[in-house]
Formats: sequence, C-alpha cells, structure tokens
Amino acid sequence: MEHVEAVVIGAGVVGLAVARALALAGREVMVIESQAGIGMGTSSRNSEVIHAGIYYPKGSLKAQLCVRGKQLLYAYCEQRAVAHRRCGKLIVATSQAQLEQLAQIKQRAAANGVEDLEVFSAGAAMALEPQLRCEGALFSPSTGIVDSHHYMLSLQGDLENAGGMVVFHTQVDHVTPGAQGMVLSTSGGDQLSCKTLVNAAGLHAPGLAERMDGLPQACRPTAFFAKGNYFALTGRAPFRHLIYPVPEHAGLGVHLTLDLAGQAKFGPDVQWVSSPDDLQVDPRRGDAFYAAIRSYWPDLPDGALVPDYAGIRPKISGPTEPAADFVISGPQQHGVPGLVNLFGIESPGLTSSLAIAERVAALV
Ligand SMILES: Cc1cc2nc3c(=O)[nH]c(=O)nc-3n(C[C@H](O)[C@H](O)[C@H](O)COP(=O)(O)OP(=O)(O)OC[C@H]3O[C@@H](n4cnc5c(N)ncnc54)[C@H](O)[C@@H]3O)c2cc1C
Repeated sequence: MEHVEAVVIGAGVVGLAVARALALAGREVMVIESQAGIGMGTSSRNSEVIHAGIYYPKGSLKAQLCVRGKQLLYAYCEQRAVAHRRCGKLIVATSQAQLEQLAQIKQRAAANGVEDLEVFSAGAAMALEPQLRCEGALFSPSTGIVDSHHYMLSLQGDLENAGGMVVFHTQVDHVTPGAQGMVLSTSGGDQLSCKTLVNAAGLHAPGLAERMDGLPQACRPTAFFAKGNYFALTGRAPFRHLIYPVPEHAGLGVHLTLDLAGQAKFGPDVQWVSSPDDLQVDPRRGDAFYAAIRSYWPDLPDGALVPDYAGIRPKISGPTEPAADFVISGPQQHGVPGLVNLFGIESPGLTSSLAIAERVAALV
C-alpha cells in the first residue's frame, strides 16, 4: 500500500490553501479530488467577495479567520498578481428601523477589529452611487473582489512547486485507523495510508466523517444545505461599489456584486434544499429578486434579470437554529491523531482560506 505523509481531501479553495501551507512547511502532501479539476465545488459558485469581517459574532472563528484571511489574501494577491480589486461596499438601510441595525453592525465590526467602516448619510451614499435609494449607509473600504479561479490556480502552483500534487477523479469513500496512521479507501478500490489527514470535502465533509471509523459520534455534525441562487443583470452595471442590504437570517440578503469585468449580478438568496447537487436556478425565484432589489434600486427595469448560477452553503445548523461557526475539529476534539475535519466552511470561507490553512497547519 502506498504511504503519503499528509493527505488533503478536496481541491476547493480551502483544501488547496491547506495543502499549500503543509507543503511550504516541508511536508509531503497529496490532495485527493473526486472531480476532474480544482475548484469545481462551492469554490466556483460564490460571490468572489473578499469580506471585511463585519457581521460575525465577536471571538468566533468566522470573525477571527475572516479578518486575518482578508489581510493574508490581499497581500497574496498583490505578491502573485492575482486579479482582484479593493472596490469597497455600501451596506444600505432602506427604512428608519434598519438605520438602527446599521449602528449595531458598526459596533459588531469594531469588536471584530474592523475599524474602517464609515457612516454615510442618505445624501452622501446617493452622491457616491446616484442610482441608489436609501435612508443611510455604511461604507466598507476594505471589502473587495477576487478572481477565485486565478487565486486557486496560484495556490495549486505553489503546492506543486513545493513538491505536492493533486490527484483528480479519485473519491475517498472510507477512512480506517492503520499501523501507519490512517488508511483511505477510494471508490476505485485503491488504498493509501497517511499520517496526517485533512477532510476539506466541503458539502461532503460531514458525510465523509460518517465513514471514518473511530470518530466519536459527537464529532460528526449533521449536514444541511442552503442554496443561494444568483440572477445576472443584462446591460450595464448601475453601481461601481458592491451594494448590500442589511443582512437577513442564514444569508447576507440579495446583494449586488460585480465581477472584475464590471458585470453585475444579484444574489444569493436562501433556499433550503435536501441535496448538495440541487444546483438549478428556478426562474420563478426572480420575482422575489425584483422586489428585494427595488427596495434600494427602484429603477431596476422589468425583464433585466436572467437566471445565472447557484451555490450551496455547507451548513451544519438547520433553518430554525442559530448560524453555526466554522468547525476545525482536530485531535484535541476527537482524539484521532493526525486528523482534522473542516465542517461548515460557508461564507466567508474564500476570504478566510489562507487563515484557515495557517490554523490547520499549526494543528498537525
Ligand atoms: C452562495 C455562496 C456564496 C458565497 N460567497 C462567498 C464570498 O463572496 N466570499 C467568501 O469569502 N466566501 C463565500 N462563500 C463561501 C466559499 O465559497 C466557501 O467557504 C469555500 O468555497 C469552501 O471551499 P472548500 O474548499 O471548503 O469547499 P469546496 O469548494 O466545496 O471543495 C470541496 C471539494 O472536495 C471534493 N470532494 C468532496 N468529497 C470528496 C471525496 N469523498 N473525495 C474526494 N474529493 C471530495 C469536492 O469535489 C470539492 O472539489 C460563498 C458560498 C456560497 C455557497
């Protein structure tokens, strides 16, 4: 049986960042990916926003790793010429009640170390973005956008330059304890042993943990799937900054994001689904988008939105539960030497990827 020192399951942005960190620390690393290429899961189905770290509960992993990850990601993009733009975002209040929520958001951001939010009057916000209608806004100058595929290619390049490799078309089905650490069985019938194992399987991470022998039941969370649908705007983007409403439960509200070519899209909404493969966008959901968007952009023309794509949030808390934090479950939690399971790495996982990698590398 082949032996590799460290295996990372999943070549999404988090798996690649972790594998890179381990390889740069001098470890022998193999990434095992079931699909034909890197980033074919949630990492290709998101808003590509570099989040500032505003909304998350103080002290949570999401707060800590987003703020640290943002700094690391901007520095990395600059060093490696990964396409990105620090375009800034406006969080807009469209009622008096929401103005109070903006004040709370500003306080929460400050508690997370995000001190750069600026309070804008309605007039100042609308002077910046003339098509916008609002009662007031917060401006986040450190929010940006990144070409996530360019970023992942760069991580893969670093990994390979440091001697690591990515193996495609290979699905890990089962993990059992073995003489040299852990033994992985693949759907193709192959076996491989490793000393260090990182489960970065995204939507499938909890399912894979169910097939890890020796893992305590308390360390196997239930997976929930919250789909986020996007609609693209035909024609020119009306805004130069990202525009976010005040957040709602389970998501950040139907916001406007821009890609690096300036194309605007709206989303993601929140639709709880039972399967991680339910990725079709139902055009009928467009009606709710028109209503939500017109609360801050009244001139959205009829027929301007077209169904685009969807991504699924890898949740570990259900629709009626409070949002769960990221879970980085290492030997201290579950008692299995060399194993780290990553659960619930939803937004801001892209922003946090280099900081998650730093944490995981320190654990193993
Ligand atoms: C709608 C939406 C919008 C988002 N917007 C943002 C944003 O703007 N900014 C931000 O910071 N974050 C955002 N996120 C979060 C971000 O996209 C994720 O946190 C991140 O992509 C997770 O990466 P990952 O590597 O953990 O998972 P994935 O990208 O899902 O990668 C997991 C990989 O594991 C592979 N795999 C699964 N099971 C196995 C197995 N058994 N064997 C081998 N391989 C396996 C899969 O094929 C997949 O390639 C968003 C998420 C969603 C859903």
